[in-house]
Amino acid sequence: MKRLFILLILTGLYALSPLKALQLKVGSYKQMLHERGEVYFKFFSADRQQLQQLGHIISLDHIRSDTVFAYANARGFARFLHSGLAYTLLKPPSERLRKQQLIPGTLKSSGKWNYYPSYEQYANLMESFQKDYPALCKVVDIGKSVLGRSLLFVHIGHLNNLALGETIPEFMYTSTMHGDETTGYILMLHLIDYLLSNYGVKPEITALIDSVDIWINPLANPDGTYAEGNASVYGATRFNANHIDLNRNYPDPEDGQHPDSNTWQPETKAFMNFATKHHFVVSCNIHTGTEVANYPWDTWAVRPADDAWWQEVCRQYADTVHAHAPASYFTDLNDGITNGYDWYSISGGRQDYMNYFQYDREFTLELSAVKMPDPDSLSGFWDYNYRSLLNYMHQVLEGLRGTVTDSTSGKPLYAEVFVQHHDNNNSQVFSDSVNGLYFRPVYSGTYDLRFSASGHRSKTVKSVKITNGKPIVLNVILQAESSASIKQQQISPGRVYPNPAFGKLYCADFSQGSLVSVINLSGEKVLTRRVGSGEALDIRLLPPGIYFLKIVSGNKTILRKFVKK
Ligand SMILES: [Zn+2]
Repeated sequence: MKRLFILLILTGLYALSPLKALQLKVGSYKQMLHERGEVYFKFFSADRQQLQQLGHIISLDHIRSDTVFAYANARGFARFLHSGLAYTLLKPPSERLRKQQLIPGTLKSSGKWNYYPSYEQYANLMESFQKDYPALCKVVDIGKSVLGRSLLFVHIGHLNNLALGETIPEFMYTSTMHGDETTGYILMLHLIDYLLSNYGVKPEITALIDSVDIWINPLANPDGTYAEGNASVYGATRFNANHIDLNRNYPDPEDGQHPDSNTWQPETKAFMNFATKHHFVVSCNIHTGTEVANYPWDTWAVRPADDAWWQEVCRQYADTVHAHAPASYFTDLNDGITNGYDWYSISGGRQDYMNYFQYDREFTLELSAVKMPDPDSLSGFWDYNYRSLLNYMHQVLEGLRGTVTDSTSGKPLYAEVFVQHHDNNNSQVFSDSVNGLYFRPVYSGTYDLRFSASGHRSKTVKSVKITNGKPIVLNVILQAESSASIKQQQISPGRVYPNPAFGKLYCADFSQGSLVSVINLSGEKVLTRRVGSGEALDIRLLPPGIYFLKIVSGNKTILRKFVKK
């Protein structure tokens, strides 16, 4: 009886709201794709290989006991249908709450962070941080989305540090590149406010801001989050306005420059340019859908060089959360942590891009099982997580740091800092050419460190002892090679092909573990990579011109000349 009554009421309501009725019609994927450009669905698969293949076609979001939750755009879904797998279409997570629950309040003035702001409120809020704390932060627009919305960072640092440039290590948080995963969006706004308002109040926050160059981007996919308009996050999409998954759109260590076979989206390009201009030591990419800290790699089974460090750092994150949250929170996979590939493999993700191509340490933080939780629960998520979020920022200060300088001039050097018998897959770091500073978080142990710079003799410092929680400083001076020995190195246009080159450059002199740098005619190093025998160097991002290729392999240095078309 009760049931019938409810059914009658529901029927009545849907009759009044034709749009809602459409949304519930399961099987109307065409309608959903037409209205939203993406579908959310689930299917059953226990076949890892099948999932790996499907992962190149659709966006696997999370997996719960062999039930796979996924998103697809029109092209991806058409290809998924060919698999013949049975599926269930799901209501978009951003339409789970009623529209009224998502009407924005006045975030900051209320003193509570239990609202999702309108897009204008968000933009004003970001501006207000700079207005209220001009000596502590700047708002930086790194580029535009497909629809021309700004991709905004708040850059927090003591003004002295902001003026001096990178004399302290750079740290980055970025959230919500999947537009419908909004928990981190609000937590990042809250974090910015917390840091700024506690400078000079809480000694630990003052010390953090004084010693870390902090970059926070609360909303990496504004077009997705405000897919239904600037007024509300209701109806947010995972994908950007071109219906592309931004977290599958990055160059991949294993699967090449365009693993999703889409061009780089404006959001992706803006972010890659931004990351290339900076030297992030440690960062984190925030999502929702699960409750877990997911560490590298996502694309392949090989373990990261710093696997022990990653497990320790993620364990710390999860354990600190557990100490301050309900028992059921943040316990997915191995009690809140997982190796990315062990969970399921993805290609083109931001995490692997940052680790492999930017020599950074980044993990993916999945903050809540519910993608767009009730606004009322947001301050709870803050309470569970803020200590862990602050602790993780301290990782940039751990391990080893120092300067690399030239023996005669004392000038700073751009040098590779390589942990021997340890570093692989670009886990090494580089010192900054402007001030010679390098930062290398690394797990407790005794390491041999090799320092190499162009035109200088490499130096190996043996048996450097690192203890967790006790960072050490190691300043290294490198001796310049004599001009005679540099002249002896033959600059030859041979053995490089194709020449001129546009995309990929091969060289017969590449051997396993070669450190290859590209130097422009002004003598500036514009690219450095480790390239193995038979592998290609990607030079697509270089401006056209004449370059030198410098290949360091053991004690041998070879210079080759080539032309970029
Ligand atoms: Zn996500």
